[in-house]
Amino acid sequence: MGGWFGDGLPQVSDEDNKKLEAPLTLAELGSAVGSLKPGRAPGIDGLSADFYKAFWDVLGPDLLEVLASRLRAVMASVIHVDQTYCVPSRLIGDNITLIRDVLEVSGSLGINLGLISIDQEKAFDRVEHQYLWQTMTAFWVNGGLSAPFSVGRGLRQVCSLSGMLYSLSIEPLLHRLRADLQGVLLPGTQPLKVSAYADDIIVFINSQRDVEVLADTVQVFGQVSSSRVNWSKSSTGLGLLHGAIAVNAFVCRVNRAVGEGCPFCGERETVFHCFWECGRLKHMLELLRGLFTSLGAEFNAQVFVGGVRYSSRSRRRGRLLSFLVGQDKMAVYVSRRRMFQDQGEISPRALMVRMVQARLRLEFGLYRINGDQEGFEERWGFREVCSVRDGELFFYAFLSL
Ligand SMILES: [Zn+2]
Repeated sequence: MGGWFGDGLPQVSDEDNKKLEAPLTLAELGSAVGSLKPGRAPGIDGLSADFYKAFWDVLGPDLLEVLASRLRAVMASVIHVDQTYCVPSRLIGDNITLIRDVLEVSGSLGINLGLISIDQEKAFDRVEHQYLWQTMTAFWVNGGLSAPFSVGRGLRQVCSLSGMLYSLSIEPLLHRLRADLQGVLLPGTQPLKVSAYADDIIVFINSQRDVEVLADTVQVFGQVSSSRVNWSKSSTGLGLLHGAIAVNAFVCRVNRAVGEGCPFCGERETVFHCFWECGRLKHMLELLRGLFTSLGAEFNAQVFVGGVRYSSRSRRRGRLLSFLVGQDKMAVYVSRRRMFQDQGEISPRALMVRMVQARLRLEFGLYRINGDQEGFEERWGFREVCSVRDGELFFYAFLSL
């Protein structure tokens, strides 16, 4: 186990470590308990053990918050920039932008790229105490946080102490992956390897070797941390957020129980097959092509994979086309997931039409609440798509089922 943690995890500096280990000050406690009602406020002197015991229910959360604010101050120095959850000044948007850019650049350069999502089973409930302490020890110069605090076994999904501990607990896995994967090399960048937001971990893959490294590393991590990766969910579970899914051609190398075949037609399921080639998509792609054509835009695999490009002059149309492509990918993903979950087959075209309509209705409702019907028409009113008549939203023929 030592080897797992022993190589080059960033460490909290001596200076920061002193701050972390310093006795809790009255000022800190004071600000933490400052919100208590006057009748319950402690005296300035003598916060004894008895006091803590008697008032733990009241003070416990505040003490944890003091510790959390200390930890917050050092998170960015020990967590690599590719992990963003509960690291101050980092946002999930950073992950999304990165992945969108990677898909766009690799698509336009014809670079093969797979995204594998590692889905941990009940990640927040499964962080073992012993493992957590080992991780903390590895990060901290002098062997851990000395102030006592308890962490509930079921770490809550909030950006407090527990959220930060979760990000810390996952960092050794990511660190190992960064060290051992070759990653995906795009012009002008360091090799891209992972992107993580809480338990949403995406690994960039473009070689057989890396798929095997990933499988081995995750297995060892599972032994060390008692975490378990749910590969069957991983094969289908990539958040749509990222606009891509881990298709079977990749997943079968990680999990032999999953075949390479497309769940619908049996052909080898590459990313290209999954989103473009598969026969089941024919009607949906025809619909999309029709919409693009009538809006005077070209529709091809390039646009589909790399995203819709538009100048400021064609911004209004460009946003609509991007939205439609996004809904189309969502329909591919959702219908594929339904298939895996034995919820039956659904036509991607029908699903897409429903999702587009639902989204536009929602938008329309929001604009209407704000009394800005014109704003809606300005943004979404296209004669090929929808319009507002007598205060009601109508969809045009393209979007009928
Ligand atoms: Zn297929």
